[in-house]
Amino acid sequence: MSKLVIVTAPSGAGKTTIVRHLLSTFDQLVFSVSATTRSKRDYEVEGKDYYFISQEAFRQHIAQGDFLEWEEVYDNQFYGTLKSEVARIWNAHLQIIFDIDVKGALNIKKSYPHDSLAIFVKPPSAEVLYQRLKGRQTETPESLQKRLARAEEELGYKDKFDHVLVNDTLEHALEESERVVRDFLNEKLWRP
Ligand code: ADP
Ligand code: 5GP
Repeated sequence: MSKLVIVTAPSGAGKTTIVRHLLSTFDQLVFSVSATTRSKRDYEVEGKDYYFISQEAFRQHIAQGDFLEWEEVYDNQFYGTLKSEVARIWNAHLQIIFDIDVKGALNIKKSYPHDSLAIFVKPPSAEVLYQRLKGRQTETPESLQKRLARAEEELGYKDKFDHVLVNDTLEHALEESERVVRDFLNEKLWRP
């Protein structure tokens, strides 16, 4: 049985930054590429960051039972983990790292309680979260508001996770993420 590292956070808290660091640090970790119906950002690569698919294709995957989990994270924006993605990584005897929303993270944790480490990345404050999301320049004023409203709700779930990582100074957050994941990967059997 392979291990799973699940990283979740309100949008803009820094989980993509942290997941990229973990991927470059640990050779045995492979990113679980999700399917999504949202449009691609300029810097994203199809098949590497996401499988960008139409709503129709997404609904077809739901109907066929292809998803391990999926969520309508924002109105009309669907995200999901394909079972085939997990199988691909496990067949290669590697470990999976997920960048996934809070509900999806809790669902995966529930499916693999003893083999997964679930990390919640917390922004130091609501103001910092707003500044980071704005600074990333990926959102319209409407989508920024949507993400901030959801962030408040998501923060309420943080105590359900194995580890809460405050992403204040990036260097410290990266070090902490590395330590927690190294300890987990070195454990023979994970006992939360
Ligand atoms: P998420 O994947 O959670 O939405 P990102 O990793 O895209 O978040 O980070 C949001 C923005 O904040 C990005 O522009 C990123 O470069 C920046 N960022 C992430 N962590 C920090 C930090 N500790 N200090 C300052 N900026 C950060
Ligand atoms: P973004 O649009 O910023 O890339 O992602 C928005 C949110 O969707 C983030 O919280 C991200 O972690 C989450 N997300 C990405 N992939 C999946 C997935 O496969 N399933 C679920 N439930 N959430 C996902």
